Amino acid sequence: MNIKIIGVVGAGTMGNGIVQVCAAAGLKVIMQDIGEAQVERGLTTIAGSLDRLIKKDKISEQDKQSTLANISTTTALADLADTDIVIEAATENEAIKLDIFRQLDELCQPQTILASNTSSISLTRIAGATQRAEQVIGMHFMNPVPVMALVEVIRALQTSDATFQTVHELSEFIGKIPIEAKDSPGFVANRIIVPMINEAAYVYYEGLASAEGIDEIMKLGMAHTMGPLMLADLIGIDVIYAVIKVLHEGFGDSKYRPCPIWQQMVDAGYLGRKSGRGFYNYADK
Ligand code: NAD
Repeated sequence: MNIKIIGVVGAGTMGNGIVQVCAAAGLKVIMQDIGEAQVERGLTTIAGSLDRLIKKDKISEQDKQSTLANISTTTALADLADTDIVIEAATENEAIKLDIFRQLDELCQPQTILASNTSSISLTRIAGATQRAEQVIGMHFMNPVPVMALVEVIRALQTSDATFQTVHELSEFIGKIPIEAKDSPGFVANRIIVPMINEAAYVYYEGLASAEGIDEIMKLGMAHTMGPLMLADLIGIDVIYAVIKVLHEGFGDSKYRPCPIWQQMVDAGYLGRKSGRGFYNYADK
């Protein structure tokens, strides 16, 4: 595998997790975000996550130090120019992503692969915004990245076999299990899970049960490890809302109509764990 240096755009929930697993596998990683505060928060989260692994005897203090030593940070996208692959994990917003990919296309080396961790935005459209469409691909990691084994590897219509092969190898190298999927609204994982979460939100919105009740029903009755509303808080209310809208618009099918509660929660700033409040309150945690 000829990937040695990785750029990660976005140091949020997913970005810092991706940085952590790549750095822990021995790769050099440059983590980029729009401001120092975001980058610092990303680094603090990684250090905390590594500390938890030390407490569980999964890694040593030495492992932590060598992982952190593989990470550098920046607020300038141009600093990713000499990376072998960039994995974009910025906010789930098409205009933001297209702008990032256009800039990366301009500034990166011609051979650099450009991957996106998007949950739902068309990879074919993202690829089409660049002059290197065959080197654009989806690497859809699951949350929390250091824990979850899957990477859904999504081929845009234009993605070359060579790009797919490299990303497949990279996914395995960082300890993940890649599964191939085609580009379509929500790909596979979110096409299935997000409508279920949306339905759980409707059940809550209609007052049929409390958030705890809905989650317990799905845990005790369906053997889910986490209830759908707690999962929505973990993923991010804004992210779920963005994905269900993409499914609704992409298929034009009313079965994907977003529950009105998503817009209300986003307006209220109730974005889930990352903002301290979603369906549950995390303020004191
Ligand atoms: P987040 O809100 O936690 O983090 C997004 C980060 O992107 C923020 O730090 C923000 O400052 C940064 N950002 C925004 N615009 C930027 C720009 N122009 N350049 C650089 N950085 C920028 O979001 P997240 O949950 O980490 O989601 C990131 C991506 O991962 C989204 O595409 C999302 O759909 C996808 N994803 C999320 C989950 C999940 O469970 N949260 C799972 C799989 C995939």
